[in-house]
Amino acid sequence: MWPPIRPELAGIEPYGAPQLDVPVQLNVNENPYGPSEDCLCDIAASVAQAAVDLNRYPDRELVELRAGLADYLHRDVPSVRVDPAQVWAANGSNEVMQQLLQAFGGPGRTVISFAPTYSMYPEYARNTHTEWVAGAREADFSLDLDKARALVEEVRPSVVLLPSPNNPTGTALPPAAIRALCEAVGDEGIVVVDEAYGEFRRTGTPSAIEMLGDHRNLVVTRTMSKAFAAAGLRLGYLVADRAICDAVRVVRLPYHLSAVSQATALAALRHADELLANVDALRAERDRLVSWLRAEGYEVADSDANYCLFGRFADRHAVWQGLLDRGVLIRETGPEGWLRVSVGTPDEMAAFKAALTEVKGERA
Ligand code: PMP
Repeated sequence: MWPPIRPELAGIEPYGAPQLDVPVQLNVNENPYGPSEDCLCDIAASVAQAAVDLNRYPDRELVELRAGLADYLHRDVPSVRVDPAQVWAANGSNEVMQQLLQAFGGPGRTVISFAPTYSMYPEYARNTHTEWVAGAREADFSLDLDKARALVEEVRPSVVLLPSPNNPTGTALPPAAIRALCEAVGDEGIVVVDEAYGEFRRTGTPSAIEMLGDHRNLVVTRTMSKAFAAAGLRLGYLVADRAICDAVRVVRLPYHLSAVSQATALAALRHADELLANVDALRAERDRLVSWLRAEGYEVADSDANYCLFGRFADRHAVWQGLLDRGVLIRETGPEGWLRVSVGTPDEMAAFKAALTEVKGERA
């Protein structure tokens, strides 16, 4: 067989949602609002400044950026102030998590999560030769803590991946679940709470960042791709005990985060107020979307994110296609019978609702 690829990778299609050029894109949980003129100008000037020294390698340790991210986290979770040495960044939280598995997973080690969950997790496991074990969620996508603990006892994982809010369900985990798993895993592993959508959490849903002081094996990952409206930047980060950051620094490639990325991220952080200004509007739009779908008779998972999972359809592909035929792209993902739609602008939501109503009428 040629090329002589690792046998477990042979014939596998690279991961990714369909990238189709349609008017209403609600398929990859992006923020629908772009940066302002002011922010664009600051980014352009910062990148120009970085370009002056483009013959040199960038700061390998991301000192200024890690300090900026630590400041931002304090703003999002005012009760916590982390040291920049507890923060680490990479090209998207995808890369952060792959680095975590490179450092804490590997041959002879196991990573667990609870399905349905983010479809990249098994791929990080495969890429790092870490055994992948998926426990199950309950019918409402919550975790049964006794079963979760039993799975930890049985497989003794080196890494537990807990997205909260979860993708594709949108459901967040209660603090008790995170605590229970941190305790069950103990010093044998790390518990990664993936808060890619953390800023969209509903009032009363705490961030796991508040628990960092209580559990040294807890890692919280975040991204600038979602609430921060900077998916094109590719900037994800983690916050954890300093020793965990130092372990990840062992496996990172030198200069993995370009000078251009660091300059752009720092400029975006200076405009955090503006970039995050639409989060409340998106949360309100999300709540309206959930109510509308329920009123239309759909089953909808509770959502703390900027998307929701709804169903159930005997033929979800036909519904997905019917929406696409009307210029609305959503995501065919998650358990059979369900579809996921991202929260967009009011106009995009109106287009989605109109298209779904038509598709429903056609199929009735
Ligand atoms: N975690 C979850 C749960 C996600 O849904 C995503 C993106 N869809 C990511 C991590 C990765 O995001 P990024 O690499 O853009 O930070």
